[in-house]
Amino acid sequence: MRYFLIASFLFFSCNAYLNGQQPADTEDWSVKPNAVHLVNKNVPSDAILLYAGKGDAENWEHVNGEALSWKTGKALTVEPKTGDIQTKQAFGDVQLHLEWRSPRKVSANGQGRGNSGVFFMGQYEVQVLDSYDNETYYNGQAASVYKQYIPLVNVCKKPGTWQSYDIIFTAPRFNVDKTLKSPAYVTVIHNGVLVQNHVELQGPTLYVGTPEYKHHEAKLPLKLQDHGNPVSYRNIWIREL
Ligand code: MG
Repeated sequence: MRYFLIASFLFFSCNAYLNGQQPADTEDWSVKPNAVHLVNKNVPSDAILLYAGKGDAENWEHVNGEALSWKTGKALTVEPKTGDIQTKQAFGDVQLHLEWRSPRKVSANGQGRGNSGVFFMGQYEVQVLDSYDNETYYNGQAASVYKQYIPLVNVCKKPGTWQSYDIIFTAPRFNVDKTLKSPAYVTVIHNGVLVQNHVELQGPTLYVGTPEYKHHEAKLPLKLQDHGNPVSYRNIWIREL
């Protein structure tokens, strides 16, 4: 076996040389990757800190433009009935990291337990829900692409425990005539486990009906949902891709 491998290696190497190919022909020196190092709590040095847990809420506002009225401190916590919040900055393709925690005290079931959500471009939702021993429709549980994709597995931790999402989102593209050029894609890693693998979004998140893409800007704010439950967030950082 060993002699066969050596012979094959020599055969293919000699063949490449005989065809006039050199090792350097397939080396790519065109784009040098920027050096990125990890700072506090493993945040990449090129990331934008959206909530570091120091009461820093200046990156956020309510979707109606009003000043933030969610609770701030070490965590950013939904203040029920005050409405969704969004980043002041707009984003397209991104890598997002955040940590979330559903309330320790369980007071409801199904969609009423620890419900919130991460909406890319204000309209494409990765669900936040306490799905620990809490049954609901599967494309509406934690880490689902709401009403579109069931997560591959359920990695939800107990209520009151911090958990992480690492999400890669590719924004949809539109043609000049405003028709869809390419759909949005999302990959989700929940507590270190892959739960959505580059799934193709069918359109914006809808509670009722079949989604359909509608033309929008290339960059739009990231939104967090007030669904009436005091869900907390921390260590939110984002990298534009
Ligand atoms: Mg939700």
